[in-house]
Amino acid sequence: MNLSAIPIIDHHAHSLLKPKATHNPIDFQRWFTESTDREMHIQHVPQSLFFRSGVRWLAELLDCEPTVEAILAVREVHSYEAWAERLFREANISVLLCDYGYQSSDAYTHTELRALLPCRVEPILRLETFAQDLIVKHDTFEQMREAFVEAIGNARNAGYVALKSIIAYRSGLAIELPSRDKAAAAFGPLKEEARRTGHIRLASKPLCDYLVWLAIEQASAQELPVQFHTGFGDSDADLRNANPLHLRLLIEKARCPLILLHAGWPFYRELAHLAAIYSNVWLDLSLAIPFATTGIPAMLRDILGMTPFSKVMFATDAFTMPEIFWLAARWGRWGLGRVLDEFIDEGLLSSDEAWDSAEAILGGNARGVYHL
Ligand SMILES: [Zn+2]
Repeated sequence: MNLSAIPIIDHHAHSLLKPKATHNPIDFQRWFTESTDREMHIQHVPQSLFFRSGVRWLAELLDCEPTVEAILAVREVHSYEAWAERLFREANISVLLCDYGYQSSDAYTHTELRALLPCRVEPILRLETFAQDLIVKHDTFEQMREAFVEAIGNARNAGYVALKSIIAYRSGLAIELPSRDKAAAAFGPLKEEARRTGHIRLASKPLCDYLVWLAIEQASAQELPVQFHTGFGDSDADLRNANPLHLRLLIEKARCPLILLHAGWPFYRELAHLAAIYSNVWLDLSLAIPFATTGIPAMLRDILGMTPFSKVMFATDAFTMPEIFWLAARWGRWGLGRVLDEFIDEGLLSSDEAWDSAEAILGGNARGVYHL
C-alpha cells in the first residue's frame, strides 16, 4: 500500500534548529542518533542503516551525490525556509503538536515555527521543566504548588493541546501515591540549589511523583491528554525505570487519555498489552519509528496483532532538522504499508479496512484524542 496520500498528524515532536546549527557534516549526522557521545557522531553514525538510507533518499530527492557533503551543498543553495516547507509538504504532515521543553537558543520559538512550516502547529506543556522554573521562581513549597496547579488547571484555555511528562528519565515510571509531606520536604534542598546556581534539574522522586498526580487531576478535569515518555529516549534514560508496566497504578486511577510514547521500545509488547486492555491508554510509535528502521515491520506486526487500530498513533518525535521529519514519515508509511499488505494477503483485512486503519493510525486517532 502506498500511504503517502494520508496526511499525518504528528502528535509528538519538537522544534527545529536554525540552519547554522546543522550546516556541517558532523552537526548534521549527529541527529541520526539518540547518543550524545561525540565519538558516536563522528565514527559510528555513518555506519548506521538509518544514516546510510537517509543520505541515499535525500540525495535522490535533491538529485545529488549520496554524500553528506553533497546534500549540505545543495541544501545551502536554496533558502532554508523553502527546503523545510518542501520536506514537510512531501512528508504530508498536516498538524504538528510540539513540545518546546527541549529548547536550546538555536531552536525556533513557537511563533517562528508556526511562520516557518506549512502545517498547523500546536503547543504541548512539558511538566518537569515547567515545574523547575516554578521552583526557581517561588520561595515556598505552597507558593510553587499553587502556581503549578493554577497553570496546569488553565492549560487548555492557554492553548495547550496536551501535557507531557518526562518522569521516566528523571525518577522513573514506578510512580507512587502522592505524599504532600515528602514532596514538601524535597522542595527545601532543591530551592537551596536554585538560590546558589539559578537553575535545577528536577529528579527528586517524591516531588516528581507528587507533581505528576497533581497534573493528572488537573488534566482529568479538562479532558486533556497526558503524554508519558516510556522506553528509550533521552540520553539520561535508565531503561530499567522506563518500562511502561510500572504505570499500572497511575493508569487505573487517571481519568484522562494517557499516550505512552516511543512505543515503549524495547518494551513494545508490554505497551501493546496495556493499550489493548485499558481504554485510557494509547500506544505512540514515535522514535521507534524511525530508529528501529528494518525492525519497524516486526514491531508493527506484534503491536497490530494485539492492539486495536484505534489505540495506536504514529508520530515522528523528530527534532532539530526537517530532514528527520521527512525520513521518519517515510519509514513509518513504509513499515505500516508493508504490514497492512500482509494482513490483506492473509485475508485478515479487506483493502478498505486496511486503508481505514492506516488513516486512523497516521492521524485519525490523534485528531479524536487531542480534540483537533
Ligand atoms: Zn519523545
